[in-house]
Amino acid sequence: MAGRVARNFIESLLSRADIVELIDSYLKLRKAGRNYVACCPFHQEKTPSFSVSAEKQFYHCFGCGASGNALSFLMSYAHLDFVEAVEELASRVGVSVEYEEGTAPQTHTDFSQRQSLYTLMADAAHYYQQQLRQPLASEAVTYLKQRGLTGKIAQTFGIGYAPSGWDNLHKALVTNSQQQNELSILGLLISNERGQVYDRFRNRVMFPIHDQRGRVIGFGGRVLDNSEPKYLNSPETPLFQKGKELYGWYWVRKLNTEQVIVVEGYMDVIALAQHDIPNVVATLGTATTAEHLSRLFRSLSEIVFCFDGDNAGQKAAWRALELALPFMEAGRQVKFMFLPREDDPDSLVRREGKTGFLQRLAQAPSLPEFFFNQLMPQVDLKNIEGKARLIELAKPLLSKLPSGAYRDLMLRELSRLSHVDLKKLTTLIKSQEVTVNPILITPINHANPSLVGSIIQCLLRKPDLVNYISAIDILQNINSAELPLLLELVRLLKNHPELNTLGAIYEHWRGSPYAGLLKHYALKAALPLNSEDSHLIAEFQDALKRLSQQAIEARIEVLLHQRDLTMSEKEELKSLLQQKV
Ligand SMILES: [Zn+2]
Repeated sequence: MAGRVARNFIESLLSRADIVELIDSYLKLRKAGRNYVACCPFHQEKTPSFSVSAEKQFYHCFGCGASGNALSFLMSYAHLDFVEAVEELASRVGVSVEYEEGTAPQTHTDFSQRQSLYTLMADAAHYYQQQLRQPLASEAVTYLKQRGLTGKIAQTFGIGYAPSGWDNLHKALVTNSQQQNELSILGLLISNERGQVYDRFRNRVMFPIHDQRGRVIGFGGRVLDNSEPKYLNSPETPLFQKGKELYGWYWVRKLNTEQVIVVEGYMDVIALAQHDIPNVVATLGTATTAEHLSRLFRSLSEIVFCFDGDNAGQKAAWRALELALPFMEAGRQVKFMFLPREDDPDSLVRREGKTGFLQRLAQAPSLPEFFFNQLMPQVDLKNIEGKARLIELAKPLLSKLPSGAYRDLMLRELSRLSHVDLKKLTTLIKSQEVTVNPILITPINHANPSLVGSIIQCLLRKPDLVNYISAIDILQNINSAELPLLLELVRLLKNHPELNTLGAIYEHWRGSPYAGLLKHYALKAALPLNSEDSHLIAEFQDALKRLSQQAIEARIEVLLHQRDLTMSEKEELKSLLQQKV
């Protein structure tokens, strides 16, 4: 241990980490409405009552009351102490821990600096978009038109243009050395051995890459002449990790679809969107990773991989299949679509249109079909050796499947093909049982919480509701044991707008007298009572109005029973009586 972890580092760490991803790496989470659920790891149960909220960055269990943020989970589940939990989470996110003594090396991960990096990325994206409208961009515009893109789709995807020349972006965005430094961190500026700084992207069509929250975190640039490389991506930066991000995911996520098509390039995503096939994402210069699959399957149930029709495509498809096996369970589907030789999704959809493309998609082999189609030609089933070989080949792969209906089906098919008894196969391919329970969340009604209590709960669910509270002094007149917590919470949220999730508030109060109280409300606030924000806002405003009324009445009562009112008290009483009416 190198000392105390810096407070603002913890805040920035929590704002970066995703509790759903973290917990999902330990126990399988399933989507249930706005939240994710699993059987609770902290008590024995058969139906899931453990719920995780991405929005609040908080988990809690309806059964045993366990609750907390990402750090609490690591402490309770992995039995780490606080500093170890911070270190573990930091290493997962890919940053080094900052300590108060300043012994750790300077990293660029502190909260305000990250905000400034996001802002710079947005500025750069805006700049490139502007350049696409300049006369010098005519070549880029011609290129996009040739690919059949409309201005509207270019606008949707934020497509831009980086002009020729060495320092256009530099001139447009840099006004001080800090910005120059940050643009270098973001990979938009590079410097040569002589220390000269220049734009990374020159004379390229620019595709901004968004994270799943819609913030620009990187760029892809395509050349307009014959220079190399044809496609150039932002390097890995504090904001951009290639193996994690998927181009287009931000838009697909909003679609409410169960199916996503995975392709290789940005132009494929955009061309398909132009042909009204919007549920498409692209990997960013890497093969599909388990992290991609986990992210996709968390939100939808069917993934269609789109591969070139050549040998390399077949190989890549097999790798994707191996990667997908651990994710396969009843209700999920993976398909492999192979393109005609010489085609990419872009050229195919332009030639055959939406209907043609979707027809091919419908005929794409499913994972089991592709699996056995690949294995069968490798064995001769006419003799015993061939059957044994088939089982040998299938065994290590099928054992990657979680147990359940999906694996049973695959085993049944293997049994049919090999004529080996199903029971025998099952014993051959045994793996650890992971039971998957149906999601049964019983809605719980919290019995008439007090007004103060429900305001606290609303604030914990949606901290920015604090902006609706203007007069906090008058609330002091309320006689309620819960009032100190409410006032403290309002003060905290007003002073720290960056504490915008329950998880972050919880962290701020870890170890303070408010922590225990907060836990009590956090549990209730975690209930998905009103799924709509508008309901929550209405509920909050209503409660706040009623509470203010009560506060006014209480104050009037005090003043009326008080002898010898001062001038200002008389004024106050008058104004309160008016407000009451
Ligand atoms: Zn529990």
